[in-house]
Amino acid sequence: MAWIGYILTTIGAFLVMEFLAWASHKYVMHGFLWSLHKDHHDGGYHPFQKNDAFFLIFAVPCWLSLMFGGLYHIGWLVAVGIGIFLYGWCYFLVHDVIIHQRFKWFKRSNSRYVKVIRWAHKMHHKHRQKEHGESFGLLIVPLKYWEKVKRDEKMNMPADTEVI
Ligand SMILES: [Zn+2]
Ligand SMILES: [Zn+2]
Repeated sequence: MAWIGYILTTIGAFLVMEFLAWASHKYVMHGFLWSLHKDHHDGGYHPFQKNDAFFLIFAVPCWLSLMFGGLYHIGWLVAVGIGIFLYGWCYFLVHDVIIHQRFKWFKRSNSRYVKVIRWAHKMHHKHRQKEHGESFGLLIVPLKYWEKVKRDEKMNMPADTEVI
């Protein structure tokens, strides 16, 4: 496969991961593995959360694709592994650093996209319970959150996107 094929495979795997992250957040984390996700909805500051176990769970398919792809020289499988790896890093940076500020690495951004995903995730955390949640995705969020941020910008309202 030409390089462009591998790059497209990596981008495809990254996009599929956003879908899988949405589906597993909605149906697994707010489903039968709620016991691991619950402390992420409790509010307050916890240096470590049981919820962090999901990073290890998602690391398994990443590691398997890279290992078997490398061992048997299956290029597309390595490309998939790289896509999962990049998504994992992106999830950590966006969800744990930019949204929850577990590490104060960046100054608060004024970009509209950052405001939108922070607002959407704030709406996810508004619900403290397993049921009746909303906004389970991370990077791709419904239009209504974009519209809310645009309305606030028009009225010069400060972006109230603090997530606890
Ligand atoms: Zn949740
Ligand atoms: Zn969160």
